[in-house]
Amino acid sequence: MSKDSKSLLVQGYEVVIGFETHTQLTTKSKIFSRASTAFGAEPNTQASAVDFALPGALPVMNKGAVQRAIEFGLAVNAHIAESSVFARKNYFYPDLPKGYQISQFEIPVVQGGSVEFFLDGEKKSVRLVRAHLEEDAGKSLHEDSSLGAAIGDGRGMSGIDLNRAGTPLLEIVTEPDMRSTAEAVAYAKELHKIVTWIGICDGNMQEGSFRCDANVSVRKPGEPLGTRREIKNLNSFKFMQQAMDYEVRWQIEQIEDGHEIQQATVLFDPDTGETRAMRSKEDAADYRYFPDPDLPPLVIGRDWVEKTRSEMSELPRVMAARFVSDYGLSEYDAGQLTQSKVVAAYFEAVAAASKQPKLASNWVMGELSRRLNAQNISIDQAPVSSATLAALITRIADGTISGNAAKQVFDHLWTPKAGEWVFGSPPGEVDAGLSALRELKNIDDLIEAKGLKQMSDTSELEKIIDDVLAANAKNVEEVKAGNAKAMNALVGQAMKATKGKANPAQVNELLKQKLA
Ligand code: ADP
Ligand code: MG
Repeated sequence: MSKDSKSLLVQGYEVVIGFETHTQLTTKSKIFSRASTAFGAEPNTQASAVDFALPGALPVMNKGAVQRAIEFGLAVNAHIAESSVFARKNYFYPDLPKGYQISQFEIPVVQGGSVEFFLDGEKKSVRLVRAHLEEDAGKSLHEDSSLGAAIGDGRGMSGIDLNRAGTPLLEIVTEPDMRSTAEAVAYAKELHKIVTWIGICDGNMQEGSFRCDANVSVRKPGEPLGTRREIKNLNSFKFMQQAMDYEVRWQIEQIEDGHEIQQATVLFDPDTGETRAMRSKEDAADYRYFPDPDLPPLVIGRDWVEKTRSEMSELPRVMAARFVSDYGLSEYDAGQLTQSKVVAAYFEAVAAASKQPKLASNWVMGELSRRLNAQNISIDQAPVSSATLAALITRIADGTISGNAAKQVFDHLWTPKAGEWVFGSPPGEVDAGLSALRELKNIDDLIEAKGLKQMSDTSELEKIIDDVLAANAKNVEEVKAGNAKAMNALVGQAMKATKGKANPAQVNELLKQKLA
C-alpha cells in the first residue's frame, strides 16, 4: 500500500470494503417473461405464469437484458464471456414461489474490469470481480397488525406481491479494494454515474433500482483480511456513509474489547444510525447451486459485442479526458462537468458557442450550479439556456462587461423581477447554433438597458482619473514614496467614480502612466 493509506487508519486499524450492487435494468419486460417491469402497479397485476412459477411455465431469456450487460462490460473494460451459464440458487422464501432464484454462479456474463474515479484529487481504481445477470424476487407486504388479524379485514395479515419477481438485475461485485468509507461512497457514486450514463439503469435509489451491499472488515496493517459483515440494501449515499462509519467503529470496539467478529448479514436502521445483525451468513454451498436445465448457456457472439461497442456513446471517463486535453480543464473540473450527460451537453454547448471553454466551465460549475443547487432543480430546468449563457460569456471575453456586471445580467436572466423585460431561449435549449446571433443581440440590449457596459473610451476615463488624482493628493504622495497599498486605493476610487464600469486593468495602466 502507498504511504497515504497510513493516514487513513481508524484508531490504528485499516478498513477493507468490497461492494455488491444490484442494478435494476431498464428493460420494459422481465428477464425471463413478457410481464411489464413498470414500477408502482397494483399488486400481482404484472406477473405472468413464469413469475408465479406455475408448473410447466418455462423461462425465455430477454435479449435486452443481455444487451445491457454487454454495454456495462464494455463501459468498465471487462471481458464479455463467450458463453455463460444460468444457475439455480435454492432457498425458501414466501416471495420466491419457485423455491430458487435464477442467477449466474460459476460463469458470469461479465468478468473483471474496473471502475476509476478521483477521490480528493487522487486517482482510484477499484477492480471488479464480475457482473452477473439474475432475476429479482417478489415482495412481502405486511399490513398494520395493531388491530390484530382476528377482525378478518386483512389487517395484521401478510401478502405477497410478485410484480417485482423476475425483474432483471445485474449484480456488480468488486474485489475488496476500498480502504475507506469515503472511497467506497465515491466508488458507488461513480458506478451510479456509469450505469445511468449508458442508460442500462434508471438509477432511482428510492425505488430500489440501485441497491448496494457493503462488505466491511477491519484489520491491523499487514495482517490478513479480517472477517467481514455485509450491510444489505443501502439505497442512499448518505445512509451508505453513515452505515459504514458506524460499522467500522462497532467492529473496532468489538475487537478492542476482545471479541471476535462473526461473519453476518446486517441491516442499517436510519432512525438509530446503527447496524444490527439480520442473520448469520450463508455460504455458497448452502444454496446448492446447479446449472438451470431450463436455460441453455448464454452464448454471445463477438460480432454482437463489437456492434455494441461501435454504437456506444462516449463514456464519462473518456469524455472527461477529452475535456482535459481539448479544453485545458483540470481533471477535477472535467470530472464535475461529466457528472451527467445533461450537464456535459450543456457545458459543451456553452463552450462551443462562446469558444471560451475555461469561462464556460467556471460559469457552469460556479454561478449556474450554485443556483441549481439552491433551488434543487436539474440543469434541464435552468431558466438560462446554454445559448444565452454562451452569449453572456462572449461579452465577458471581449471585454464588453466585467465578470461582476455579467453576474448582474445573469441574475436578471435567472429571476426576472416583476415588470422587468424577459427574454432568452426556452429553458433546456441546447442547440446554440441557430440562436447564437439572436442571443448576442438580446444580451447586448440588456447590457445597454442596464448601463453595464465597460468604459472603453480612454479620453473619458482619463478625465475621471485626473479628477481622482486631484482629489487624493495624499495617496498620490504615498504612491510616489513606493506604497503599493496607496495605489490600490487610487484604483478603487477610480472604479467607484466610473460606477464599476471601467476595466480595472486599464485603470491600473493609466494610473501607472500618469504617476510615472
Ligand atoms: P458472497 O457472495 O458470499 O457475499 P464473495 O466472496 O463473493 O461472497 O464476496 C462478496 C463481497 O465481499 C465482494 O465484494 C468482496 O470483495 C467482499 N469481501 C470479501 N472478503 C472481504 C473482507 N474480508 N472484507 C471486506 N470485504 C470483503
Ligand atoms: Mg454477498
